[in-house]
Amino acid sequence: MLDLKRQYEPLQKELLGALGHVLQTQQFILGEQVNRFELSAASHLGVAHALGCSSGTDALWLALAAAGLGQGAAVVTTPFSFFASVSSILRAGGTAVLADIDPATFNLSPKAVEEVLDGSQGKQVRAILPVHLFGQCADWTEFARLGRQRGLKLIEDAAQAWGSEWGGTKAGGLGDIAAFSFYPTKNMSAAGDAGMVTTNSEELTERVRMLRQHGMRRRYYHDELGWNTRMDGFQGAILEVKMRYIDGWNHARRTVARRYHALFHESGLAEANLYPSHGIVLPHEVAGSHHVWHQYVIRTRKRDALRDFLAMRQIGSEIYYPLPLHMQEALKRLGYIEGSFPEAERAAHEVLALPIFPELREDEQKTVVSAIADFLS
Ligand SMILES: *Cc1c(COP(=O)(O)O)cnc(C)c1O
Repeated sequence: MLDLKRQYEPLQKELLGALGHVLQTQQFILGEQVNRFELSAASHLGVAHALGCSSGTDALWLALAAAGLGQGAAVVTTPFSFFASVSSILRAGGTAVLADIDPATFNLSPKAVEEVLDGSQGKQVRAILPVHLFGQCADWTEFARLGRQRGLKLIEDAAQAWGSEWGGTKAGGLGDIAAFSFYPTKNMSAAGDAGMVTTNSEELTERVRMLRQHGMRRRYYHDELGWNTRMDGFQGAILEVKMRYIDGWNHARRTVARRYHALFHESGLAEANLYPSHGIVLPHEVAGSHHVWHQYVIRTRKRDALRDFLAMRQIGSEIYYPLPLHMQEALKRLGYIEGSFPEAERAAHEVLALPIFPELREDEQKTVVSAIADFLS
């Protein structure tokens, strides 16, 4: 599914050198190395400020807390994402309200959000938190319009979307504030847990800085209940090196995705529908967006049997996500039931993520596609 060693081997010397520098300076928490990474990350993404922190989950919490979305403020997000998209809202003290997804992109549907805003819970809503799922930005034309018209804050969950764009603007600079994850499987990956908050707002930047260090503006004087969510120097060092390569890696992912598309079309397996019948539905890149293919997710009816078949042939695959968030035990208190979000529930039954990473070879992709062809015939 993912072979991280192929990325590591050519970078070994450079990475070890960068880690050695951290040991030399003994700046293990934030410090010079993290500062440098933050500056280059901001310029890379075209945002005014980037702030390193300890994980993508903490980045989401920091973004929400900095934006003042605690104390029961309702935030609308998607039921089809990683758990942290919702749990961070609750951790920040807010109320999570969900809206269904667009079946073509798996991203939060602006239309469904608009229905929620017009409904009984609409009045409490203070923000929208779209997730740029699988490496493709949520429909920011519509979310920006909703934000403007209704006076709502926009928070990006950009954990899977380093380098992706909407209308020429990079993820991280689209909303009021954004959260990135550098979990080792993400496109931009650390050697452990790490995350980042980005924003163009001076005020939010100052609040994130304060909240990531126990609410201190002055050492040992605590203005608010913050938390320890700092990035460590080793992660900053690793990430600064990888920043030199990330554009090339994302470019390679796009090549891999294009090759899957071509191979599936040649094999006659691809169906030009929203939902699969006998073959598979390929993932869709929206016009005007720049997809960075964190995952290549197909839809098929016989998903579980296909996954077992691929496993038998030593081909990795993964289900993102098998159980929508509104049906998770830990989130029962949100008050939704099975049937609340039919698109998310249907996707959970049909999606299968195939191996995709920059170093994946064409012959390996052919093996994947012909195995799927064998299964479906
Ligand atoms: C990975 C991920 C997170 C959480 O990031 P961590 O660094 O693992 O805490 C949040 N949201 C989404 C969509 C993710 O994929």
